[in-house]
Amino acid sequence: MLFDFTKIMCLAVKTCKLCEMYNVIIDRDGVVNRDSDHFIKSVDEWVALPGSLEAIARLSQAQVAVHVATNQSGIARGLFTLAELDAMHRKFRQQLAGYGGEVASIHYCPHGPDDDCDCRKPRPGMYQQIAAAFGFSLEGVPVVGDSLRDLQAAVEVGARPILVRTGKGERTLAAGGLPENTQVYCDLSEFVDNWLAAGRGQPP
Ligand SMILES: [Mg+2]
Ligand SMILES: [Zn+2]
Repeated sequence: MLFDFTKIMCLAVKTCKLCEMYNVIIDRDGVVNRDSDHFIKSVDEWVALPGSLEAIARLSQAQVAVHVATNQSGIARGLFTLAELDAMHRKFRQQLAGYGGEVASIHYCPHGPDDDCDCRKPRPGMYQQIAAAFGFSLEGVPVVGDSLRDLQAAVEVGARPILVRTGKGERTLAAGGLPENTQVYCDLSEFVDNWLAAGRGQPP
């Protein structure tokens, strides 16, 4: 009979280095699924970008917890309902499961630009909610987005800004003004491969 000593050690010492969970926070529209200037309003409009679900699955298989943080002001604008948003996320999770992946959480801001909430990016409230709920520090945690506000929120809490060129990414890159330590990748898949190959960056 074989013993999994890793598990035994982790049960004994909750903080052992071997079982430290790594976390990644990703934006949704333009990173995981195709974006639209007219909002993603329905399950049918939610279409995964090529390779994005496979990339998340590779993170899952590497014991990385993937959290989604997404501005969804279409709710406040009355463009779609929370039920429709839930249905989009069911589709997302189901398709992802088909690749053997999962997301640890999906956080969304349902407010509009004039609501002055703390969760709408570029404010970092959603990232802070995730970190509090899952008990990890945001310091150095990769935050992958296609818009400047995803990265601004990351920098504000000491997380690592990663820009992908999918979705609005090319436009974001062309507009300039990115945080100076921003890393740029073609898409989520290229970031994941590089990050995993580099040993998931620095320990949290
Ligand atoms: Mg986006
Ligand atoms: Zn909000």
